[in-house]
Amino acid sequence: MPPKPKKQPRARKPHANVTRIPEIIARLDDAYGIPEWRPHRDPLSELVLTILSQNTSDSNSGRACVRLLEAFPTWDAVMEAPLAELIAAIQPGGLAPTKAPRIRAVLRDIKGRRGDFDLAFLAELPLDEARAWLGSLHGVGPKTVACVLLFALGRPAMPVDTHVFRVAQRLALIPMRAGNAAMTAEKAHALLEAAVPPDGYYAFHIGLIKHGRRTCTAQRPSCDACVLRDLCPSVGKVAGNRTVRESVKHVDG
Ligand code: SF4
Repeated sequence: MPPKPKKQPRARKPHANVTRIPEIIARLDDAYGIPEWRPHRDPLSELVLTILSQNTSDSNSGRACVRLLEAFPTWDAVMEAPLAELIAAIQPGGLAPTKAPRIRAVLRDIKGRRGDFDLAFLAELPLDEARAWLGSLHGVGPKTVACVLLFALGRPAMPVDTHVFRVAQRLALIPMRAGNAAMTAEKAHALLEAAVPPDGYYAFHIGLIKHGRRTCTAQRPSCDACVLRDLCPSVGKVAGNRTVRESVKHVDG
C-alpha cells in the first residue's frame, strides 16, 4: 500500500488583514479621537529628540531635550560641547554615552554638508531623496527618518516604534518573519508604508501607539475590551490577556 501523502501545512497569509486597515483606523479614531497633524517642531529638533527618545519614555527624552537646550543654547554649542558635558546634560534620557556622540556626529555631518543646521530644504526634495539624505546621516535609521519627515515636515512617512510594530504583528498586518530571519521594526517600515494609504499614515501611527499603550499592551493585552477584537487573529491568544473585569481595573488604575 502506497504511503499516505503527508498533510501539507496550510499556506500562511501574513498580510491577510491589510484590507482591513481603513476599518482599523476608523475604529481607533472612534476610540481615541481623530489625531490632527500639526508641525511638532523644526526638523533638526525633531531629529535630535528622536535620537534622545530611543529606548526610553517620552517624558525622559523630553526632560533630556530640555536639559540639553538649557546647557547649550545653540546647535553649534551642542556640536562643540565636551563629550562628558553632553553626556551629563542628556542623562535623564538614558543611554547617554551612546546618544551623546551620536547627536554630535549628526550635527557635525549636517553642518559639514550644508554649512548650517537648517533642514527646511527637505520639504522641497522629492520624498525618496529626502529619505535618502536623512538616512545617510551617521546613526540615523528608518524610524528617525520617518519621524522627521512626518512630524516636522508633514510628509508621508510611517514611523514604526515598538507599539506600532507589536500591534501590527498581532493584527497580522505584517508577517512574523522576514524570510529566514525574524521580522524587525526596521524592516516593517517599508511593509506598512506599502499597506497603509499615505493619507492615513499619521492616524495609523498615532492610533496604534495609543492602542498599544492602553489596550494592546506588551504584557497581558486587554483583548476582551478591545475595539478591534473581531478583526484580530490574535484575540485571546497572547499569553496572559486580561479579562474585561481586569481591564477595567487596569484602566481605573
Ligand atoms: S484583540 Fe487583543 S491582541 Fe488583538 S489588537 Fe486587540 S488587544 Fe491586541
